[in-house]
Amino acid sequence: MQLLRKTTSHIFITVLMVGLVVGYCAVARISWATGEEENTNLYTQYTASFLQKIGRLEIEADQAGETILAEKIRNWMPQRGSEKIYLFHPGSPATNESRKSKLEQAFGKLCLQHGEDLLELSRRLATDGQVTKSVMVLSEALYHAPQLSEARELLGYQKHGDRWITPEAEKQLAEGNIWSDQFGWLPKDHLPRYQTGERYYHGRWISREKDARLHADIKRGWKVETDHYEVITNHSLEAGVQIALKLEQLYSVWWQVFANYHISSEELKKMFSANGIPRSSLKRHKVVYFRDRKDYVSELGRLQAGIENSWGFYFENRKTAYFYPEEKDSEKITLWHEATHQLFSETRASHKVARLKNNFWITEGIACFMESLQPGANFSTLGGLQEGRLPAARARLEQTHFYIPFDRLVALSGSDIQRDPDIQKLYSQIAGQATFLMVADNGQYRQGVTDYLRAVYRGIARPETLALKLGVRLAVLDNQYRDFLLGRQTTRPEP
Ligand SMILES: [Zn+2]
Repeated sequence: MQLLRKTTSHIFITVLMVGLVVGYCAVARISWATGEEENTNLYTQYTASFLQKIGRLEIEADQAGETILAEKIRNWMPQRGSEKIYLFHPGSPATNESRKSKLEQAFGKLCLQHGEDLLELSRRLATDGQVTKSVMVLSEALYHAPQLSEARELLGYQKHGDRWITPEAEKQLAEGNIWSDQFGWLPKDHLPRYQTGERYYHGRWISREKDARLHADIKRGWKVETDHYEVITNHSLEAGVQIALKLEQLYSVWWQVFANYHISSEELKKMFSANGIPRSSLKRHKVVYFRDRKDYVSELGRLQAGIENSWGFYFENRKTAYFYPEEKDSEKITLWHEATHQLFSETRASHKVARLKNNFWITEGIACFMESLQPGANFSTLGGLQEGRLPAARARLEQTHFYIPFDRLVALSGSDIQRDPDIQKLYSQIAGQATFLMVADNGQYRQGVTDYLRAVYRGIARPETLALKLGVRLAVLDNQYRDFLLGRQTTRPEP
C-alpha cells in the first residue's frame, strides 16, 4: 500500500503461510559465477565495439551534412549513469530501405549485426541459467534489430504484414478493431465518430456528455483492455486508456527485470529450443481507477480501515489494484508501487504477504525500488541514487545514523513494520536496500534477490533465506549497502 507521508498505519489483509526451507548449493553457485563473468565480459566487449563503430559513423554523418542521422546515432545508446538499470524496448522495423542514404544503410547494418550478436549472447545466458540477463539482452537485441524474427518469436510476437504484434493485438485486428491511444481498441469505423465527440453505447450513438452520465457509477464504468490489464473507470474512457498505457509501461519493464521471478531457467531453455512460448496467458490484471478521492474512499472505506490515508491500494483478496487521480508525480509513483505489488502477487501462484512473520520488508522495498521507473520510448531506467526515496535514505543514514541492519530487518513481520513509529524512515531505508540489491556491483545480487522474492511470495522464506540466496553474510551486506548509498562504488555497463 502506498502511504500518505504522515501516516503510520497500514492495512492488513491476509493470512501467513509457512513452508519449506529453501536449499542452497554453494558449489553450484561458484561454477555458475564463472560463466556469468564471461558473459558479462562479452556484453561489455560487444557494446564497446558497437559504440566505437557507430561513433565513427556519427562523425561521417556530421561531415556529410546528414544531421538528423548524426543526431539519431548520438542518442541511440543511453549515457549509462551509475546505479541504474537500462531496459531496452523493441523498436519498429524500418521501411523503405531502398530510399535510405548509404550512411543510413550502414547504420542499419551495424545495428543488425549488434542485434544478432546480442541474440547469441542471450542464448548463452539462457544456457547458463541467467534468466533475467538473457531476457534483458534479448530485448536489447530487438531494440537494435527489430526485424530479428527469431528474437521476436522468442518473445511471443506474431508477424502481421510487415509488423510484429502481440497475440492480443492480432486478435483485436482480426475482429476488425483498431487501436487508438485516446480511446483504446474500438471498431475501425467508430474511430472518426469518436474523434468528433460521439460515443457508441448499447447499439446506438450518443453524445460524450450522455456517455459520461451513463458511466458515472463505477459499477457501470468504462472498461479498457490492453495486453495485460483490464481497467475499469468512471473518470473517462480517455483516462482509463492513459492509466492502462502507463501500466503496460511498468509491465514491460517488470517483465524483463524480474524475468527469473516468472520464468524458470528450464522454461527459458525450452523457449530457445522450441523457438518461443506464448509470452503469457491472457489473464489480465484488474485495476479500478476512480473519478476522485471521494469515490475511492466511499467504495473502499467499508472494506478497509485507513483507506483514506492512501493514494492507491492493491487488494490481494480481490486481486485488484485501486487508484484515483492525484498530483501528477505522486499518481505515477503510487501506480508503479501498487502495480508492482500486484505483479508479484498475481504472476505466479503466491501466498498472501500482508501477514508474513518475517521477510516482509522486501515486498515493500521492491515496490519502493520500482517507484524509480523512468519510462522512455527507446529504453527505460530503474534505480539511481538520486531517484525516489534514496536521497532521503542517504540523508537519514548520514545525518541521524538511522539504520536497521539486514539481520534485524529480515526477522520483522508485516505488523512489526507497519506498527513501527519510524515507518517513514524505514520505507526510505528499504527503498535504498532493495535498490542496492538490484543494481549494485553490476547487478551481482539481482538474480539472488529475485530468487529470494520468489521464496517470500511462496511463503517459504525464513530469516536465513536472504543470506543463502545471495551467498553472503548479512553483516557484509550492511557494509556494502553503506558504500553503495554513500556513492563509494563504481560500475560498468552490464546486461
Ligand atoms: Zn506497498
